[in-house]
Amino acid sequence: MKTIGLLGGMSWESTLSYYKLLNEGTRDALGGVHSAKIVMHSVDFYKIYQLQNEGKWDEAGEILANLAHSLEIAGADFILICTNTMHKVADEIKQKIDIPLLHIADATAQALVEKKCKKTILLGTRFTMEEDFYKKIINSYGIEVVTPNIQERKEIDRIIFKELVIGKILEESRSKYIKIIENLYEQDTQIDSVILGCTEIGLLLKKNDINLKIFDTTSLHVKSALELAL
Ligand code: GLU
Repeated sequence: MKTIGLLGGMSWESTLSYYKLLNEGTRDALGGVHSAKIVMHSVDFYKIYQLQNEGKWDEAGEILANLAHSLEIAGADFILICTNTMHKVADEIKQKIDIPLLHIADATAQALVEKKCKKTILLGTRFTMEEDFYKKIINSYGIEVVTPNIQERKEIDRIIFKELVIGKILEESRSKYIKIIENLYEQDTQIDSVILGCTEIGLLLKKNDINLKIFDTTSLHVKSALELAL
């Protein structure tokens, strides 16, 4: 079994899901008392959050790259960045390590291709929805990406940072997310799926909440990590 290196804490609410799912998946695959081999750095998210808001991505990238390198020294065979947004600095991290980085957008796009999805809604932080670093990978698999309008993106982003990353799961916010998805589908019925492109959204939205196919990036990232580790 390979050792999985986790860059976590962004936020710890979803890192908890990674830790649980990786261990459950290992137990289910190998049986008995088996559990996942993991080394982890869990950051103080406040620092990363500040750097994101100040647009200091190089600095954030350097911090994560150094931590990834130390995970490699600690015995990790490959790395997962346990957030979609911080994949904005994935290339900087890759340059600092000699082990593979399992990209969350690749894991997600592969699952969409398997289910023959062609046009998908991407929900995530404003960085993930508005910038190119994430969408371009999904597009490279021949999948079209649709994002909500500016007001909706602001609200989705607000709910992530003011609620989900601090463990607040509100019914009202779940309804807002569902409404936004339904509106987008009404405008374009070619849409066949939704990417929960923020590792905390899976804590809010569940499979039965909407009629489209849901792709939860946290569980897909874990699934491909387990394939590699086992
Ligand atoms: N975990 C979130 C994501 O998947 C948001 C937190 C962050 O900005 O890293 O994008």
